[in-house]
Amino acid sequence: MGFQDAVLTGLAPDGGLLVPATIPDVTPMLASWQGLSFVELAREIVLLFVDDIPREDLERLITDAYANFSHPEIAPLTKVGNVTVMELFHGPTLAFKDVALQLLGQIFEYILAHENKHLNILAATSGDTGSAAIAGVRGLPQIDIFVMYPRGRVSHLQELQMTTEVAANVHCLSVEGSFDDCQNLMKTIFEDLAFKEKYALGAANSVNWARVLAQIVYYGYASLKLGGERPVSFCVPTGNFGNVFAGFTAKRMGFPIERLILATNENDILAKFFESGVYERGEVRYTVTPAMDIQVASNFERFLYYHMDCDPVALGEFMADFARSGRAELAAPLHTDDFLATAVSVDDTLSAIRTVYETSGYVADPHTAIGLAAAERFALEGPLVCLATAHPAKFPDAVNKAVGEDVARHPTLDSLCDRESRTTNVPADIEAIKDVIRRLGH
Ligand SMILES: *Cc1c(COP(=O)(O)O)cnc(C)c1O
Repeated sequence: MGFQDAVLTGLAPDGGLLVPATIPDVTPMLASWQGLSFVELAREIVLLFVDDIPREDLERLITDAYANFSHPEIAPLTKVGNVTVMELFHGPTLAFKDVALQLLGQIFEYILAHENKHLNILAATSGDTGSAAIAGVRGLPQIDIFVMYPRGRVSHLQELQMTTEVAANVHCLSVEGSFDDCQNLMKTIFEDLAFKEKYALGAANSVNWARVLAQIVYYGYASLKLGGERPVSFCVPTGNFGNVFAGFTAKRMGFPIERLILATNENDILAKFFESGVYERGEVRYTVTPAMDIQVASNFERFLYYHMDCDPVALGEFMADFARSGRAELAAPLHTDDFLATAVSVDDTLSAIRTVYETSGYVADPHTAIGLAAAERFALEGPLVCLATAHPAKFPDAVNKAVGEDVARHPTLDSLCDRESRTTNVPADIEAIKDVIRRLGH
């Protein structure tokens, strides 16, 4: 499949995920990429995976995508205690999702304009994907976007970021269920190929390969900046495994990366898997890190594919076992030099926010704090980068409670509260969602 088709398709027709046919080796280029800016490096990396958009067009899309970031470095690095924090939240919706979704919006628009097509994007969000996907495509004439979110399970500000959007192509659906329900609804609707075709459904979740691709860039960027003598390790707050999978791909490409610390909250299905090789679904627990209140991580399948030596049959069996019984196990014990994993409780998250603030004055959002708490548990040599995935003002309740002061504010969010909001209430039911798309889609 060409790049453009892969972007439009989102989920593969058989319900699986797309991976690149080959992963390019960048080691010969590393020396010459050393001094590149974020946008310059993005152009080099993205181009390696795109076979059907001319270079000058792609360069323009990338430049435009990052023009809306409020920090000139796009993803600045700052020292916090012993670690380096990479802030990925300087985009329009203040979460790291913007890094990929600003670009995905540009790419969608480019492809649709050339093919004179319309796309109905169906997205599921645990909070941050929704607003970031909306910010990537609002007002675009050839796109409608439908965003499903779990009612009462995203923060008030996150909900307002979505529902106060006035563009007519944006449709928010408040679903009576959990995020896993929303993600499952999305997957099931995508599997109805006749419906998918008729309504030209597209995906903005990290099942879309282009999202992972855009996220490879900051791993490359940080590893080139800091990986002088020793390769760099990254600590990544993980929900759907999309972010950390981009890091895994960057490592396979040959960027100087050592370990990826996978930090989960109390929804620890992935942390347990890396301890035991057993992948077992539990009940969703609701925490102060809603973007990670996920049991079934959609991108994990991509990692397993490589772990199983690119054997799609073995992977298919593993995924079918899991779908049937909620449990699947590897044939041989897991051995990996790539990952370390740990789960962080709510108490430990809040105390990490407090300690980091008291010792260094840095205000971390709860998701970032999970990474900072996890990083403390491993004595790694060499530089360590903790990814800051959201601005603390997106989660003021937890942050202000942890530090005991009102420190989590941002003008963009303050202005939301006076705006009118609109959403459609729907049950967690496939036909109900399809009906909305039939009624409002194009
Ligand atoms: C989405 C999100 C995560 C989890 O990222 P995945 O790619 O799903 O692992 C972590 N933190 C924040 C703030 C997020 O929005």
